[in-house]
Amino acid sequence: MADLAGLRHDVSLKPFATLRAGGKADLLMVARNLEELATDSAWGHRQKLPTTVLGGGSNVLPSDDGVRGLTIINQASCIDVRPSGLVIAETGCAFQELFLKTAQAGMHGLEFAVGIPGSLGGALVSNAGAYRSCVSEFLTRLEIVHDGVRQWVPPAWMEFSYRDSVLRKSDAPAAIVLRVEMQLPLGQPKQIYDEAREYQRQRISKQPPSPSAGSFFKNVTNKLLAESLVTLPAPLKAAGIVPAGYLIEAAGLKGHRFGGAMMGQRHANFMLNVGNATAEEIFRLAQTVKSVVRAKFGVELEEEVLYLGDWSRFAGIEPE
Ligand SMILES: Cc1cc2nc3c(=O)[nH]c(=O)nc-3n(C[C@H](O)[C@H](O)[C@H](O)COP(=O)(O)OP(=O)(O)OC[C@H]3O[C@@H](n4cnc5c(N)ncnc54)[C@H](O)[C@@H]3O)c2cc1C
Repeated sequence: MADLAGLRHDVSLKPFATLRAGGKADLLMVARNLEELATDSAWGHRQKLPTTVLGGGSNVLPSDDGVRGLTIINQASCIDVRPSGLVIAETGCAFQELFLKTAQAGMHGLEFAVGIPGSLGGALVSNAGAYRSCVSEFLTRLEIVHDGVRQWVPPAWMEFSYRDSVLRKSDAPAAIVLRVEMQLPLGQPKQIYDEAREYQRQRISKQPPSPSAGSFFKNVTNKLLAESLVTLPAPLKAAGIVPAGYLIEAAGLKGHRFGGAMMGQRHANFMLNVGNATAEEIFRLAQTVKSVVRAKFGVELEEEVLYLGDWSRFAGIEPE
């Protein structure tokens, strides 16, 4: 195989994942701009290598056994903001930077992005959101490399739903997102910044300082369960939404620890790395949480965090 310039072998992914856990990438490239991102992923396709793009690594847990194939660190980060509200943004840009740039140009819509770490690309894959808004709301089209072919596709191609898209599926197409086009409404600067500041204030009170990947599990939509929970706030009952953190806390797992991994004290759905946790410890604690919540409430928690790489030796594992 003819190596690409800058290709590195057996590189630890710990520094590239906010959980600071996991093993090595077989091959790793840093794509410094859009052309490199497109070229590197097309090269991976030609070499028949599974290809993983990482932005901020704030929604992933790489396996201790490593990630096969090519991992590309996406630093393609240009943002082009037009006065009409049209925005063209490369997926390696920080999601928060995208908010700042658009807010400075008097555009509203991305206030919820304040405090969400990571890149626009990672935000797209999990349809990141907060405070009843999400990134897919404003997209008009996306440029992708699919099976080695560079092309523009409509947002429907991504099959967005709550914290989900086609790129999270186990049989996801071999595609990476290069950049997107968005149309944002124009707003009042004072209102935009006031809203963003309020979101920031709410986050500071909840988010812990330890390494984490934010909320580990998705919230549960289940009207019957929501109605049966006496202490669930009325608006959540009405919407039929049960926060995963509520279930974890009610199951007595707030602050529960396995090795260096711990469920948050402030926010029970935050999985924290409080002492050099291995990916295995984090994974096993997550399985324990799922099993206890299943036994107590009869619902299956689904991970928001994506397990990357080779987890084959954990198939059918029993919780701790
Ligand atoms: C403290 C904290 C708070 C958080 N709060 C929130 C929140 O409020 N709401 C929320 O939704 N999330 C939240 N998150 C989770 C996370 O920050 C978001 O999901 C974020 O958008 C992920 O971006 P990333 O660049 O870090 O993705 P990564 O972790 O780098 O990647 C995530 C997935 O996307 C894939 N991917 C990344 N870029 C591309 C691309 N260009 N093309 C194809 N695939 C790609 C990766 O391969 C991986 O499968 C939080 C995380 C932390 C640590």
